[in-house]
Amino acid sequence: MINKFINRKIMKVYTMFILGFIVIAYIVVSNITKELETYIGETLEEVSRQGATVVEYKLSMYEERVERFANFQTIKNKKTPIEDKLEALNRESIKKDFLDIGIIDSDGTGYTVDGKVFDINNIEYFKNIMEKNTTTSGIVDLSINPIDSVIHSSPIYSNGEIIGVVFASSEARQFEQDIFPSLFNGKGNIYILNKELEVIFTSNNRKIKNNNSEDKSENHIKELKYLENNLRNRKIGTLKVDTQDQEIYLGYAPVNNKSNWIMVSVVDASTVSYRANIIIFEILQVVIILFIVLLCIMKYIFNLRKKAEEERVYLAFIDEVTGKTNYSKFTIDAKNILQKRKTNNYAFVYFDIDHFEIINETFGETIGNSILRKVSDIIEEYVPKGAIYTRDYIDFFILLLPYNDNKNEILGLLDDICNKVKNITITGMEGVDIFLTMGIYYETDEELSIRSKINKADTARLYIKGIDTVRYKVFCEDMRLKQIEEIHMSKQIKEALKNNEFEVYYQPKIDVITEKIVGCEALIRWKNNFGEFIMPDKFIPIAEKNGFIHIIDRWVFLRVCSDIKIWNKSGFEINPISINVSRINLYRSDLIELIKEHIKDFEIDPSLIEIEITETIASKDLDLTIKKLNELKSLGLKISMDDFGVGQSSLSNLRMLPIDILKLDRGFIVDIENDSKSRKIIKTIIELAKSLELKVVAEGVENKAQRDYLEALGCDIIQGYYYAKPMDKGSFEKFAFDRNINI
Ligand code: C2E
Ligand code: CA
Ligand code: CA
Repeated sequence: MINKFINRKIMKVYTMFILGFIVIAYIVVSNITKELETYIGETLEEVSRQGATVVEYKLSMYEERVERFANFQTIKNKKTPIEDKLEALNRESIKKDFLDIGIIDSDGTGYTVDGKVFDINNIEYFKNIMEKNTTTSGIVDLSINPIDSVIHSSPIYSNGEIIGVVFASSEARQFEQDIFPSLFNGKGNIYILNKELEVIFTSNNRKIKNNNSEDKSENHIKELKYLENNLRNRKIGTLKVDTQDQEIYLGYAPVNNKSNWIMVSVVDASTVSYRANIIIFEILQVVIILFIVLLCIMKYIFNLRKKAEEERVYLAFIDEVTGKTNYSKFTIDAKNILQKRKTNNYAFVYFDIDHFEIINETFGETIGNSILRKVSDIIEEYVPKGAIYTRDYIDFFILLLPYNDNKNEILGLLDDICNKVKNITITGMEGVDIFLTMGIYYETDEELSIRSKINKADTARLYIKGIDTVRYKVFCEDMRLKQIEEIHMSKQIKEALKNNEFEVYYQPKIDVITEKIVGCEALIRWKNNFGEFIMPDKFIPIAEKNGFIHIIDRWVFLRVCSDIKIWNKSGFEINPISINVSRINLYRSDLIELIKEHIKDFEIDPSLIEIEITETIASKDLDLTIKKLNELKSLGLKISMDDFGVGQSSLSNLRMLPIDILKLDRGFIVDIENDSKSRKIIKTIIELAKSLELKVVAEGVENKAQRDYLEALGCDIIQGYYYAKPMDKGSFEKFAFDRNINI
């Protein structure tokens, strides 16, 4: 979705960029064309003006000389024979400056100084000179010289009467070379018009002798009619002429001398546009290259931004511990999945790792994180298509699983996950099994928020949290009530701790043979404000869930230590006292240190203290349990395994655990009179215990029959109502005193 958004943004910018480019290119091209037109016009005008100046200079040079010759006395004298005149002319002029130089006599016969004679009658040019009395130049073919020439002539006056003409011709090509620069690489034309606006020179075709010239420049001449007025008025200027067949640019300037010629420069618009196109093409090339470079830069920037955006999204949606998608992504996906649901039903599963905090403390965070990663890898491996999962926080995971009608599929899947997780192997933590506690909510109320559905699964999880034998529980509404009760109870426990409402009771353990006290068990009692007793079964499991168990067990330990100290001071002989330590506290890293500290503070002989740990610890985390128990033993304490027979731990485990005493669970004792099977089990356990040199305590013995059976089966010690109920310190002292001196 984000990619789509970014792509749309990029497309928008690109489109704007391309449109902008087209507009700019258009403006640039039209500006260049306009500029070029102006430049062409100015160039043509300048060319015409300069050409005109050169022509002016050239003509005036020749025309002044022929005028001077015409003013020679010898030549002006009517009576001087033509030979003498030619002689004088030859003398005065430098022949090599001219192609031909000569005189035209009044009868219309032409003579050159080198003896050529020709007839000029009917030559308009000379007629004009004679009649109009002007010095001028022109293009006239006198057929006396094969080289094309320009003729410069001046009338000869004698007493106010024209008696002939002095003429001199110069080489037309030379003339042209001097005046015709190359215009637009030869693509332009320059014309020289005489004052009758007839073309007398063109830069392409030197002389226009007749009108049937095939030269293309001919075409241009027609266009001169657009200029007629300007030319006749001898103006300087430039003009763009648009005709049906073509477009041309014209520049014009008059030649200010006696000949009154006019210079006109012409260039075809196609030449201009060709030039313009070349320039435009070159500019466009540069612009396109720049454009492509810019596009590349933009693309690069977009890519960087896109990457950054993707990274941001990635970081926002990735759980950095597991490397999988996080809770935020889970909720988005879950919403989508549930909205688009078809036939599927869905189950929310919420689970955590048992004693994760302890594992983290014992083995370190790196190993803790490896476990979280492995657990999430296992989920990934096992969950079916269409399922999603995430880590919620710390060691809490959520699954959203589709199922058809068969809820057993879900349970099967969860079993698989539990089994696989149990056997995770992590270097540095070998032999430690990992257990999960799972709550399941089969979605019934679609309207609930995702979090509420997760919370329901969590409620089911909490319901069985701490019951190590159950791995998962399905949510039902009644659990809510229990949860509320527990919350209420948690608050009360907190208050009770503050108000000192707890007390330690002692229940004696009696030697079955001597019937003397051989020890006792410390059991906590809670007497609330109303004087009611709240039994440990009610609040210990809750304290185990909310962590208060740590404070409770510590408080009991301190109280027992303090009582031992008092009894010690009073001179009582003391038997070992067993103190219950919740399996949750067993794994705490500070347990050993605390016990050590208390024993030291109260100056207690450690052999007077037995630690009772429930059997369930033997069914899991065996290596860790052995390690912890050995640490306790190293302090000089004795270890008693409580409730043996409940946790289904194998008898072989018993061999591996460093324990001193085995306490048979009350459940066996209840049936002992009626159930021969129970008796058989007890017998086996006692025999095994004996072989391991363990003392056996039977608890919950309520009557003589039970006591006698146990004696017969080889049990050493008996704890139960039959002998004594748990009692407060004072009562216990009295009981002990009555029975024997020892406590
Ligand atoms: P437990 O460790 O198995 O303690 C023995 C329980 O059996 C005691 O219940 C005791 O009163 C009861 N009992 C003893 N003899 C008989 C009998 O003949 N008949 C019957 N019906 N019951 C008998 P209590 O004191 O209610 O304690 C229940 C459980 O609470 C304990 O079971 C123990 O797991 C836990 N608990 C008690 N005090 C503490 C404590 O200070 N710390 C911890 N962590 N747990 C404790
Ligand atoms: Ca116990
Ligand atoms: Ca017990």
